[in-house]
Amino acid sequence: MVIGIIGAGASGMAAALTAAENPDVHVLLLERQARVGRKLQATGNGRCNLTNLHAGEGGYHGDDASFADFALNRFGPEETLNWFSQLGLYTVAEPSGRVYPYSDQANSVLDVLRFALEKPNIRLITGFEVDRVKKADTGFRIDGNGEAIFVDRLIVAAGGLAGTKLGGSMSGYKILRSLGHRCTKLRPTLVQLKAAWGGTASLKGVRANCHAAIYHNGNLHSESTGEIQFTEHGLSGPVMFEISRDACQSGGDWVCRLDLLPDMEEETLKTELTRRRTTHWMSEDLLTGILHNRLGRVLTAAVGIKGQKPIRNLSDLDISTVCGAVKGFEVPLTEPLGMDSAQVTAGGIVTAEFDPETMESRRVPGLYACGEVLDIDGDCGGYNLQWAWSSGRLAGEHAREE
Ligand SMILES: Cc1cc2nc3c(=O)[nH]c(=O)nc-3n(C[C@H](O)[C@H](O)[C@H](O)COP(=O)(O)OP(=O)(O)OC[C@H]3O[C@@H](n4cnc5c(N)ncnc54)[C@H](O)[C@@H]3O)c2cc1C
Repeated sequence: MVIGIIGAGASGMAAALTAAENPDVHVLLLERQARVGRKLQATGNGRCNLTNLHAGEGGYHGDDASFADFALNRFGPEETLNWFSQLGLYTVAEPSGRVYPYSDQANSVLDVLRFALEKPNIRLITGFEVDRVKKADTGFRIDGNGEAIFVDRLIVAAGGLAGTKLGGSMSGYKILRSLGHRCTKLRPTLVQLKAAWGGTASLKGVRANCHAAIYHNGNLHSESTGEIQFTEHGLSGPVMFEISRDACQSGGDWVCRLDLLPDMEEETLKTELTRRRTTHWMSEDLLTGILHNRLGRVLTAAVGIKGQKPIRNLSDLDISTVCGAVKGFEVPLTEPLGMDSAQVTAGGIVTAEFDPETMESRRVPGLYACGEVLDIDGDCGGYNLQWAWSSGRLAGEHAREE
């Protein structure tokens, strides 16, 4: 039996290795890019957050997020780490539950997968872009690179649209739609939000630990505490990824309120800043030693205090205004950055048309799908790769069955 797999990303490699555990099966792994796992290599800022010890206890989304439960229970974080350990990867878990390779290099994850793919019953063809798939009398006909290939079973592991520069594309959705499947609306998620405040550009690269809360028309949309990062266009960082899901996707006023000193009461800050009036410092240094220098300066300027004014000349009202800004700085938001900047696609191929226990299509026998192409997306912190491993393993396990 020949199993064709479209896409040698995280889920496609997991599916290929699992299917090839049956020595009677031949796996044909087709990848349009010159190398396998290009996106995987860029994950986690080059560190690859390959799973999260809490994945499976919630943290997944989609029109029917419970679709992911079976795969995550059968092949969850513990099984994933055992599997990677057998492949030769040494990992380390952070207190938050995020797991990284001990080497801190995404390359290590990719390397052990690449080496494992070197099996007699796996044939990898890179630089092969699948253009079309048709149901044949038995199995499927795959067209690409000017040739036709016939396989008995097919796993579509072509990923989502997010991260376009790293290979994200509409390809998988198109292939599955051509075979009769429906696709939901696609949206970027785990993506930075654009701000209608010029100050973010001058803070580009600055990170801050804060409590961030997103409001829509004055009502709380989501909130969390952690690290944000200012970017040229707006707000990014783990906490923004955590709370930005579905933000700015509808009209109205969207605002992010930042408490830049969540561990300090406003009164304590006021006492400290008032004490600074006895120093010879200038206003631009009012928050020096408390916040990142650049952030402190931009913040005091944003509330209208001239940087070259001596602190001793600041009024009680000036001090209160600065304290208010530190404890509740409001950044108006406009829209999420596009798919090319997003880490993950929300939405995808309708999961009701697949069997969650096998990943097989309910419409086309012998057709399987796994990974981001399906309408499942996870929280930031290793959840998306865990879905790729879990669903890829399950698809490979069932596709190889006689
Ligand atoms: C910058 C960035 C950082 C991320 N960091 C993390 C992280 O640290 N932890 C985490 O859990 N998740 C992270 N993610 C998300 C995670 O990488 C994806 O959810 C995951 O890779 C999805 O796996 P997949 O196999 O479905 O798709 P992919 O890994 O995208 O693989 C799909 C493959 O299919 C190939 N392909 C597509 N169409 C065709 C075709 N027609 N013919 C042949 N080949 C085709 C593509 O070239 C690609 O190699 C990150 C994403 C990005 C963009």
